[in-house]
This record gives sequence, structure tokens and C-alpha cells, in this order.
Amino acid sequence: MPKASPEPISLSSELLAKYEPVIGLEVHVQLQTKSKIFCGCSTHFGDPPNTNVCPVCLGLPGTLPVMNKRVIELAMRAALSLNCKVHEHSRFARKNYFYPDLPKGYQISQYELPLATDGWLEVELRGTKKRIGITRLHLEEDAAKNLHEGFSESATKAYIDYNRCGTPLSEIVSEPDMRTPEEAYAYLTTLRQIMLYTGVSDCNMEEGSLRCDANVSVRLRGAKEFGTKVEVKNLNSFRFLQKALAYEIERHIGVLESGGRISQETRLWNQHESVTVPMRSKEKAHDYRYFPEPDLLPVHVSSAWRAEVLRSLPELPEAKRNRFANAYGLTPYDAEVLTTSKSLADYFESLAKAGAPAKSAANWIQTELLRRLNDSGKEIEASPITPATLAELLKLVDSGKLTAAVAKKVFAAMFDTGRSPADIVAAENLGAQVDDSAIEQAAREVIEKNPDNVAKFKAGNEGVFKFFVGQVMRATRGQANPQSVNDIVRKLLS
Ligand code: ADP
Ligand code: ZN
Ligand code: MG
Repeated sequence: MPKASPEPISLSSELLAKYEPVIGLEVHVQLQTKSKIFCGCSTHFGDPPNTNVCPVCLGLPGTLPVMNKRVIELAMRAALSLNCKVHEHSRFARKNYFYPDLPKGYQISQYELPLATDGWLEVELRGTKKRIGITRLHLEEDAAKNLHEGFSESATKAYIDYNRCGTPLSEIVSEPDMRTPEEAYAYLTTLRQIMLYTGVSDCNMEEGSLRCDANVSVRLRGAKEFGTKVEVKNLNSFRFLQKALAYEIERHIGVLESGGRISQETRLWNQHESVTVPMRSKEKAHDYRYFPEPDLLPVHVSSAWRAEVLRSLPELPEAKRNRFANAYGLTPYDAEVLTTSKSLADYFESLAKAGAPAKSAANWIQTELLRRLNDSGKEIEASPITPATLAELLKLVDSGKLTAAVAKKVFAAMFDTGRSPADIVAAENLGAQVDDSAIEQAAREVIEKNPDNVAKFKAGNEGVFKFFVGQVMRATRGQANPQSVNDIVRKLLS
């Protein structure tokens, strides 16, 4: 074997062998409630600014917060699906700071007694599973939204929309267990999938329902102590998370290699220039003067309530993946794709329960159905083809009544018209089976017209056999049984 030419070793990969990145994520998940955490105002996204407000969420003097029970229930769902301990007693505190988006002058947030701690989730990367620890999950209220207009100093105007003020959030803090940007990406994807499955949040990143801050440091491989960490904010997409982490890791290594030191600070991701920029240093960190919120009772979760929430959890993605692989004989890859979302998984199961063979159900969903849905911008819930009608089609294919080629045409017509496969087959006369004598006649014609290829076949070129089969299939409009075509062509040629 020729000796492989050596790969050019880039500076960063050589240095990555020397330094180990350490990453921990803080994720804010907006809980999917109809009303806010401490008042009855709507949480509906996109309403005209400052229409979903009341004296409580505007922080007017003399008002009192009232705890929304549904918020605790959803946060418990999140915590239990992340294997956390939900504590019997937790408590809200006041986090004091002044900013226009915080009309009370403090944010109500759980602090020293969070709702839940000590959980984990499992990520899978290139076939390897890894557990990432979850330090804590606590509840807090969201602040208002600032909107800035104009870019020059003099022309800038700031607007504040208090609709978001008091929207319930759950903050989920991971352990510093991740070692690569890819692991961080996998953690966030897995977390999002679990939050969607359990109905805790819609996790819509564009609407801010899922927000992520990343903490990152590097250390010499083998070192026991962590390096100084930097927190990166403003990561509003999965891609930015990965890019910002890669950027920071390179920056940290560069600073350390040139004899410098990392200063502990908060940075912002600038998506236009693909760099992080300093936002504030640790020395300027706020002193929030936390103290227990006097206007709210401590949160009490009885073991009966916790058990009830635990019972109400749906099957989680990982369990569903394993069950799909075992019960339906799917490959790990197919099981993963089909459980991407709960509704896709439900579609597959309905299809299989309606009698479609599992393997072909998996194939047809992943190829034809997802492609057509994607092209037409439709979600699986809005599929014009129901599991029951797709099952009818797949049974026709399975029993040899339709060839795969014809079934694809029928599928396209089903998608466009919503009609049943039986209707379409009857109306277009597609089900007409081509009998053996018709196949034989078509085969004879093809053979007669192609003496050169016949000679090649006789001389031992097995490859041209496919040519004959293809021609006969075409001559019979794809409606002949492929096995019969094979048999008849071979018989006539030999
Ligand atoms: P802070 O007191 O600055 O809020 P925490 O200890 O509460 O820091 O951790 C906040 C987040 O930073 C967590 O997700 C944690 O896993 C992560 N983290 C802590 N130390 C490091 C480190 N040295 N490198 C990377 N991430 C870290
Ligand atoms: Zn309100
Ligand atoms: Mg902290």
C-alpha cells in the first residue's frame, strides 16, 4: 500500500491535543402556560406591545404576586424528565437590579432553594453515549423586551414592551461536563427534544422560548483544576452556539500560548462578524442582594403531587427509540429519525398499527412523505395523506398488486388530492396487472431491436441483463411485476 502523505497539522489541532475545553450551559426555557407566572395576563406571543399587562406585572406599588400552579407543574415535568430530584421545599427570592425592562427593580427568581437539583441527560455522538449532569432547575419570571431603533448614537430610540414581563421561565444549569462544541450542540438538541416531548415548552428559538448562555474554559490535558471561564451570551441558534464555542476555545488557547491570562468575563456573540466581544468583566459583576421573597409562600411539593406528575409523563425520546428498534426491527438510524418529534413517531406507529409493514413504512415516511411535506412547507400534523390511507397503499405494494414505481405515482396523486389509493388506482387504471404473455411479447420486441446487446450477453456480459429488464419495465409502463420480467427476460435470452 502506498504510504499516506502526512496530513498538514494545523496549529489548532496540535494545540487541541495539548488543551482540553470545558463547557457548561445555562438554558432558559419558557414554560408553555396560557397566563403569566404571578398574574392572569396572557403570555401569547406577538400581540401589540404593552397590551398584555396589569398592575402586578408592571410592578405598580401595592400589588401582590399570586403563584400560577401550572408553572410549577410544568417545571416539575421538566425536572423529572431530566432525572432531577424535585425538592419538597423550594423558595423564591428577590434578585435586585435596576434596568428599564424590570419595573419592580427586582426579579423574582429561585435562588438558594431551587425547585430541583442533581439530574442528568444522555447525549449520543457518533454512537457513543455520554451523561451530562444537570446541577439545578429553578423558576423565575422573564423581564420585558427592549427594542432599539436606529444605529447612530443620536438617532437611537429605545422602546420597551412589557408583554413579556412575568412570563414563566425555567433555568436549567448543566454541570461543566461537556468537552467539545459538538457535545454542547448535542446537549442542547437533546434537551430541546425532551422539552418538546413533555409539552413543557414550544422551544421556539426565534420567539425566545429557548435561550442559551455558554460557559467555556480550557485547561492543559490531565490538569485537575478547571481554567478560568468566560460566559458567552446572545446565542440564539444552535449553529451560533457551536461557532461561538469554537471561537472562544481558539481564543483561550491563543491567549495562554502567548503567555497571557484569561480574565473572567461575560462576552457577546456577534453573528455578523462571527466573533465574541467583551460585555462586562467579573469585577463589574452585579451584587444582586438576594433575599427571600416576602410576598410569596415557599413552594411545597407533596410526594403525591410529584408522583402524579411523574405518572403523567409521556414516553421520552430515548425510550421510544429503543422500543421502535426492538418492537419494529428498525435500524438505530431509522428509529432515531422516526422519533425526532412525537408527532412523527405517532404517525409511524399509526401506520404500522394499520397494517403497513414496518420496514417499508419507515422507508416511505423518510423518503416520499418527508420530502413532499418539506417541499410543500407542511408539518406532519397537516399531512394530506393519513396513516390509514398510506397503510392501504403500502399493503398494495407488499402484496405485489402495485409495483414500487406505480406506487410512487399513486402516492403523488394521494398527496395532491387527498384521495384514497384504491380510488386513484381504479380511476387511472393503474392496478391493471400486465400478464406474462404481454411481458413476453414486450421482451421479444426489446431483444429483437437490440442484437448488439444480445451478443454481449451471450459473450458473458451479465451487466447488459439490467438493460433488458429496464427496457421491458419501460415498455410495460412500470406496471409489470419486476420478478416476472426478470424471469421471462432470462428465459428468452438463454
Ligand atoms: P457563576 O457563579 O459564574 O454563575 P457557576 O459555578 O454557577 O458560575 O456555573 C455557571 C455555569 O458555568 C454552569 O453551567 C457550570 O457548569 C459552568 N462552569 C463552571 N465553571 C466552569 C469552568 N471552569 N469552565 C466552563 N464552564 C464552567
Ligand atoms: Zn399582569
Ligand atoms: Mg451561578
